[in-house]
Amino acid sequence: MRLKTHIRIVGLVAFGGLVVGLALLLRAELGALRDAREVVRSFAGLHALSELVHELQRERGLAGMSAGSTGAHVPVVAQYPRTDAAYRAAVEAGAIGDVELAPLRMQRRQWSAGSGDPESVRGYYTATIDRLLRMVAEQARDVADAGLRKALLAQSELLRSNEALGSLRALGVRALVPGAPAHGFAARVREQLAVFDAAAARAVEAAQASEAAQGARLERALADPALAAVRAAVAALDAGEGDARVELQAAREWFDTVAAAMDRLRHAGDEGMAETRAQAETAAAEATAGLALRVLLVVAGWVASCWLVLASLRRLMLTVDRLGRETRALLARLDGAPTDAGDLQGGFMHLVERVERLSAQASTDPLTRALNRHGFEPLAHAELLRAQRHARPLALLLVDIDYFKRVNDEHGHSAGDAALREMALLVRRAMRAEDLFARWGGEEFVVLAPETDEAAAAQLADKLRQAIAQHDFGRPRHLTASFGVAQATTGDDLGRLFDRADAALYRAKAGGRNRVCRAGDDSPSAQGLRLVQG
Ligand code: GH3
Ligand code: MG
Ligand code: MG
Repeated sequence: MRLKTHIRIVGLVAFGGLVVGLALLLRAELGALRDAREVVRSFAGLHALSELVHELQRERGLAGMSAGSTGAHVPVVAQYPRTDAAYRAAVEAGAIGDVELAPLRMQRRQWSAGSGDPESVRGYYTATIDRLLRMVAEQARDVADAGLRKALLAQSELLRSNEALGSLRALGVRALVPGAPAHGFAARVREQLAVFDAAAARAVEAAQASEAAQGARLERALADPALAAVRAAVAALDAGEGDARVELQAAREWFDTVAAAMDRLRHAGDEGMAETRAQAETAAAEATAGLALRVLLVVAGWVASCWLVLASLRRLMLTVDRLGRETRALLARLDGAPTDAGDLQGGFMHLVERVERLSAQASTDPLTRALNRHGFEPLAHAELLRAQRHARPLALLLVDIDYFKRVNDEHGHSAGDAALREMALLVRRAMRAEDLFARWGGEEFVVLAPETDEAAAAQLADKLRQAIAQHDFGRPRHLTASFGVAQATTGDDLGRLFDRADAALYRAKAGGRNRVCRAGDDSPSAQGLRLVQG
């Protein structure tokens, strides 16, 4: 695959990643806003449901009180529009679900016509209220924010406790109205009082968990004289059970006493709801403001990232184009002809090969394939440093063919070239793999032998000297060479080492040629020592 295709794929992946990132961020932000708005909406719904519960409880109470007393249902008829209005408000708030009030209206008509069964009317109210209370509890539990959820659960429990008071009120009324079978009612009233106490305790607990002030307000409402009056009335009802003291007046008083306590609790609940609702609205407003800012930042960041990615890609593509053009031009110049190596990768590899070839050419002698000075010097320098660092011996051998000028003169230049190649082969054969070998000048060669002291180098040189002297070169048949050998010392540089080897070589030449001289061996007898006469 071409390089440009790779770059395009990387660009697409980066761009796609940015788009997906932006979408996820925006989704998370919008989700937070939806949650905040949801809380406010569920408050409105829960409030409407609470109102409806109150109105239904009231209607149930009034209906129960009027039961059995012809013409006494005027107060309950007056309550109908209030209940209906609360129902409409709950429908508008979208909180009512599938609860239908049509059956209630039918019940009311039957009951007004005197044909309704008070028990079934009451049962209907209680069942409807119970459904509504379950809806309130479920909706409260669904709220995501923990603090608000606790506040709404407190409200839900408060409604439940009020419902227990409502039942208690209805039972009391039935116990007191003339002609009602009073037996057993007092016990059921006490039972409802216990239900009330349990729900009220849960409401206080949830309110305190939501906010201490809410809990305190609820506790105050529960300590209200209105509730104390209810408890006193329950005690009185207990005492009076079985008495003939049942009359409509007592029923009205009972109703009013419990209704006052219920109103008190309802009031406390409304206050708590209003406060919690204000909190939720503030949170929603903050969420909206924060969201606008964050969306702005996210979009700005996204645009900047896209711009950066696109600009970088564009620059990369331009660079690839330019490099491609330059490579093609360079190759065309190197090869002396235009090339169609359009692909940058292919062109680049080709270029690298060319450079390596050129660099090898630059450090190799074309005639003998030995290193030239340019190739030899850096390697020799490194070898010298290594030997000095580890205090290891290192020897240098200079080899100079004797009377080589004559070879050219007598046999021609190409015979001289052939002799030089042959000489290089002989030296290579004599040295070790780790030795460095170079053609130093016209008919001069150099060997750098690591781990070799001067004496060993002199032996190597003499072995080589004999091999040369005994070799059949063709034209001329025989050649000899002279050797200068020196060992590197601690403070040496390459120049000094060469100078010493060169001086030894000079002595070898001066001593009659075809011999080995050591730099360290400067005794007159040893000067120009010919280890083995050629
Ligand atoms: P000696 O070293 O024994 O003193 O004598 P010599 O004749 O070898 O000395 P000199 O250094 O004067 O001559 C070296 C000759 O080597 C000169 C030149 O003609 C020859 N030469 C140098 N390079 C080449 C080459 O590449 N090919 C050929 N054929 N001859 C070369
Ligand atoms: Mg020479
Ligand atoms: Mg020579």
